[in-house]
Amino acid sequence: MRIHSDETIVACATASAAAGLAVVRLCGARALDIAARLFRGADLTVSESHRAHHGWVIDTAGERLDEVLALVLRAPHGYTGEDTVEFSCHGSPQVVDELVEAALHAGAALAEPGEFTRRAFMNGKLDLCQAEAVADLIDAQSRAARRTALEQLRGSLSERLRTAREDLVTLLGDIEASIDFVEEGLEFFGRDEALRRGETALARMDALLATADDGALLRSGVHVSFAGAPNVGKSSLFNRVVRSPRSIVTEHAGTTRDVVRETVRIGGVPMVLEDTAGLRAGRVDPVEAIGIERSRESHRNADVVLYVLDASDMQAYQRVQELQSTEARSVVAVLNKCDLLPNDERDAMLASNGAGAQAAARLLEQRGVLREASVKAVAVSAQTGAGLETLLDALVQTVKERRLALQNDALVAINQRHLEALVRAREAVTAFQSNVRAEEPPEILAADLRDAVMALDEISGKQITEEILDVIFSRFCIGK
Ligand code: GDP
Repeated sequence: MRIHSDETIVACATASAAAGLAVVRLCGARALDIAARLFRGADLTVSESHRAHHGWVIDTAGERLDEVLALVLRAPHGYTGEDTVEFSCHGSPQVVDELVEAALHAGAALAEPGEFTRRAFMNGKLDLCQAEAVADLIDAQSRAARRTALEQLRGSLSERLRTAREDLVTLLGDIEASIDFVEEGLEFFGRDEALRRGETALARMDALLATADDGALLRSGVHVSFAGAPNVGKSSLFNRVVRSPRSIVTEHAGTTRDVVRETVRIGGVPMVLEDTAGLRAGRVDPVEAIGIERSRESHRNADVVLYVLDASDMQAYQRVQELQSTEARSVVAVLNKCDLLPNDERDAMLASNGAGAQAAARLLEQRGVLREASVKAVAVSAQTGAGLETLLDALVQTVKERRLALQNDALVAINQRHLEALVRAREAVTAFQSNVRAEEPPEILAADLRDAVMALDEISGKQITEEILDVIFSRFCIGK
């Protein structure tokens, strides 16, 4: 990270590709002055804030480069809170390169990744979780992710952290005040009250911690892993769902040896689908053994496992015992190859309005493998495509049942960094609670609360090291 943040920085804020428009942003104390040197039209140095001016920009040789609109935002307005000029030019990477070049020539410095947002944070325009929300919003892959990022940007998480922090700071103040009384031999501070207020703080933190799963899901998508014995049709089904022949299909068992991964959007929800090597016991070659280990890992990490069975193979049902032992959060049993079943059985399983699912579940039950009624069963044929829509519906339904965020468009969903800091804050408050019970002196209690407040301040960025800021903002790209 640059040391002199008094420099005026420039970068293209839009994607680098041919497009209708591109925006080149200049921010810093000399933004108006530098922009004025590049611009032929009104005098930008005397422009009011929030004014757009039509004109031309010139290249380093002083020749006309492009026809643009120059938007002037004066400090403390604008994204970073500094003087800003945004040139809207034609979306030609060549124009953009030459315009940035001309700005550098006129005295600007090239912005580092995330530097605009980092300056917005340093200048108090955003707190740290709002700055992170900018990255989340840009990366959002679903409506729920977009809404949550926007709410976080508007301060929903900051607000809840502020409330939790205020509770702790007030409690800390009361305890510190009581230190003097204790010195005078008075027991002024009510321990029951301290415990009760500590409980309230814990409850607030727990409510935030409970959103971590939603956060992971909104940020990285739902992980869906295909499981089942070799040759039941996992790869055929995977290819059907991702709508392209990504995974190799053969009649030979053990073809898929590595995890094949594709991200698709199903029912508006981004899902990362993983096709894995079939889980077969007995002798397998070393390469297949590694594949099987990777499969198990994929199943363990999955939010949903699609456990594929060959509906026509009686013996395959025995293996479904594994279905119960999988560590995934949710399992959907998929009875594939139902085209090979006798017509009446097949028709019953493919029937709509939930009757098909019941028939599929009944079949599993009859064969003694489905004891857990909570496991959904869906009949499909990867070959004909029958039942595929029902399977996708069941998948989306399963995700929604497990995840509040997608059901209710949660307004807050913490990320891993917030989670770690919150866990530390929680530990400090838990220590506070037990020290209150152990009748420790107020100095000890105050120290616990200070630790908790400090951990919360890391989330909002009130207390944060340069190194952590470097890590957070390096996730951004140039121009953000
Ligand atoms: P995997 O080992 O579980 O990934 O299974 P594959 O997708 O490689 O399929 C194994 C064999 O079953 C191939 O010959 C497929 O053509 C066949 N197969 C897959 N799905 C179906 C299906 O729905 N019906 C029928 N009849 N055959 C299928």
